[in-house]
Amino acid sequence: MEINSECSKEAIEFVQELNHTKREPLKYFVRSYGCQQNFADSERIAGLLELMGCAEAANVTESDIIIFNTCGVRHTANERVFGNIGALKLLKRKNKALIIGVCGCMVEQQGVADGILKRFSFVNMVFGTNLIHMLPEFIFRVITKKEKILQTKLNDEIFEGLPVKRSVGPICQIPIMYGCDNFCSYCVVPYVRGRERSREPEHIIAEVKEAIAQNKKEILLLGQNVNSYGKGLAEDINFAKLLQMVAELKGDFRIRFLTSHPKDMSDELLEVIAKNKKICRHIHLPLQSGSNEVLKNMNRNYTREKYLELIDKIKAKLPGCSLSSDIIVGFPGETRQDFEQTLELIKQVEFAFLFMFLFSKRPGTAAEKLPDIVPNSLKKAWFAELVKLQEEIGAKKHREQIGKEKLVLPDHFKAENGKIVLVGKCDQNFLVEFEGTESMVNEFTRVKITKAHRRSLWGQII
Ligand code: SAH
Ligand code: SF4
Repeated sequence: MEINSECSKEAIEFVQELNHTKREPLKYFVRSYGCQQNFADSERIAGLLELMGCAEAANVTESDIIIFNTCGVRHTANERVFGNIGALKLLKRKNKALIIGVCGCMVEQQGVADGILKRFSFVNMVFGTNLIHMLPEFIFRVITKKEKILQTKLNDEIFEGLPVKRSVGPICQIPIMYGCDNFCSYCVVPYVRGRERSREPEHIIAEVKEAIAQNKKEILLLGQNVNSYGKGLAEDINFAKLLQMVAELKGDFRIRFLTSHPKDMSDELLEVIAKNKKICRHIHLPLQSGSNEVLKNMNRNYTREKYLELIDKIKAKLPGCSLSSDIIVGFPGETRQDFEQTLELIKQVEFAFLFMFLFSKRPGTAAEKLPDIVPNSLKKAWFAELVKLQEEIGAKKHREQIGKEKLVLPDHFKAENGKIVLVGKCDQNFLVEFEGTESMVNEFTRVKITKAHRRSLWGQII
């Protein structure tokens, strides 16, 4: 396999040889924090390590190489990573040859990479989100020259052809684009993942075909804003066209995608979803706030009226389609009236699932400088109010599924009272459990919903 530089080739061969001569190959452990994009990156990190002849470890304790792929979207994620890196000190003391790497969004934030190396002198490598392809070289330099690696240059290239070690189970995540150009005022992603760039459709299609051949049953197309896919490519393509191409591929699989930005969701896309059964009837459409004033300050480029118009269109064109969203509570300057507008919109739309976040000030973002006068205690009270409202709506949406037929893709089973219970998602993304046999894992199964819990459904095989 060719990975862009001579140095990588030499590095890969060196580690391969090393693993060959050892009684046991070097064992690696990759821990992902954050979003699906990070998980997809981790699958490439693991792919490179396997290519070098390393073997996956069951846990950090028995690893020779530990990689933490971090998230920087919210402050709490940073804190968790710091705690977990600190805990590795003991392992390093026991095993001086242990190689520890930290990569991902957090290390691209100003001052963080340096800070990690200063605070945790036992870390060997810190590298940025767009440098995964250089991992073999970094490991080579750590082993042969005892170098400390600190490389976080954000470049906007796409490195195709990296090996991927897909996680077990029926779901396969495929990035269709990288970075983001939207600069929502609260968000660190454009700064840590670089400018938006789309993969060539033929590379995406090739990867989807490969996944289907590997018996993957759910293709999850990933991008920070999939609706703007194709910008900058020579070919006349957009997300609707790409989705149509994927849906036309032969095989027993279904398609999901994440994330749609409301400002760019086209009628053409809804048409494509409507006419293709393989595309799941679930749309995640982050709202963030129901107040026009807050949306403007967030630089979201839509109003609550436009958002509601879009929801009406989805409901009309895709009957039965479930909806989910993201909400930020306590954005700088948000008033009680603003927050109530969010509550009201949520009652109107009735999302089946809602991901709720307390605003977190991120370094380098525009919102970092906005005056923030709402006391934390009040933000937390609003947050609790929102959670309570969504509990009721979510439970109602689950109850509405009783009596309906679902196509469920179980990804695991559990033994309960001597019975085998399959667990998986249906088309509309509800979690469904039903009694069956072990062999049903990874197989689409028709189920009739007989009971609803707050966050899951119970069904019977039809
Ligand atoms: N590109 C996607 C996902 C971005 S991150 C999108 O545009 O929806 C996922 C979610 O994290 C966002 O939708 C937002 O709700 C939340 N988020 C991002 N930055 C945040 C911040 N600084 N504070 C709180 N929540 C944040
Ligand atoms: Fe962040 Fe906005 Fe881009 Fe999503 S669309 S990644 S919230 S800047």
